[in-house]
Amino acid sequence: LLIASRPARALGSLNAALQEGLAGLSRVFGVMDERRRILDAPDAAPLPAGRGRIAFEHVGFTYEGVPDAALAGLSFTAEPGQTVALVGPSGAGKSTAIALVPRLYDVTEGRVVIDGADIRGVTLASLRDAIAYVGQDAVIFDDTARANIAAGHEGATQAEVEAAARAAAAHDFIAALPQGYDTRLGSGGSRLSGGQRQRIALARALLRNPRILLLDEATSALDAENEALVQQALARLRSGRTTLVIAHRLATVRDADRIVVMEGGRAVEQGRHGELMVADGLYARLVKTQAFGTEG
Ligand code: ATP
Repeated sequence: LLIASRPARALGSLNAALQEGLAGLSRVFGVMDERRRILDAPDAAPLPAGRGRIAFEHVGFTYEGVPDAALAGLSFTAEPGQTVALVGPSGAGKSTAIALVPRLYDVTEGRVVIDGADIRGVTLASLRDAIAYVGQDAVIFDDTARANIAAGHEGATQAEVEAAARAAAAHDFIAALPQGYDTRLGSGGSRLSGGQRQRIALARALLRNPRILLLDEATSALDAENEALVQQALARLRSGRTTLVIAHRLATVRDADRIVVMEGGRAVEQGRHGELMVADGLYARLVKTQAFGTEG
């Protein structure tokens, strides 16, 4: 993943990223690049208390060595507890926007504001502590089921781990493993199905109880039972916290409080499903061409 010139430092960051549940996201972005290290500002303060209001204000971002901006003038707001769905064609900038929230990268223009604070002035530890990321490819460590759920929250009791596992619909299959919660899951979770790995990742996120949830919805099909269980767990996880989701399911965009339709790094439309269907623009086209699949 990253064998940088200063392994101790790099491993320190990696460890922190793992605890924060951001390992998948870091891997997707190949970050922890020494050239663009994100560090605490000298006068960084903890993230202010709040309920997870996120505002992108005229955000621009350009990857190093890439002429075209990945994001340009991107503005949208997620109010506390809302689910905002990011949609748009491949390359529109959805993943890049998500990566800015835990500061895997810093904006090159504009700002991202969480609960009133420009996140560049916030300590990374407090920022990342407030965020959970659940991606398509759930990160499972070669450790016990319990340790996998408690990662990033090492003080958790068995009762807390189990409550999170129940809420994530993971308790029953874990209890049926040879040593229950003490069963080692194997590297990459090799003894689990895709849906089971996702539910472990959801339990981990639930246990941390973050005010912000970043979600990259799976495109790969799970079997119907796993799909239903994962969706129920996600609904529990989303409730009461602010969620930004890269949406691949029609059901998710239909239910979203706000849909931000992206193209070329900008928000070209915003609104709810019904409004955007009436507007008959890019969103309506994406829906009609079944870009979100046909299930509902
Ligand atoms: P997809 O739906 O395919 O995941 P997306 O909407 O998430 O696409 P991004 O992955 O954010 O879009 O990409 C936005 C732009 O930034 C694209 O032009 C992409 O090629 C570029 N890009 C993404 N990641 C990097 C990177 N690590 N280095 C350089 N350019 C990148």
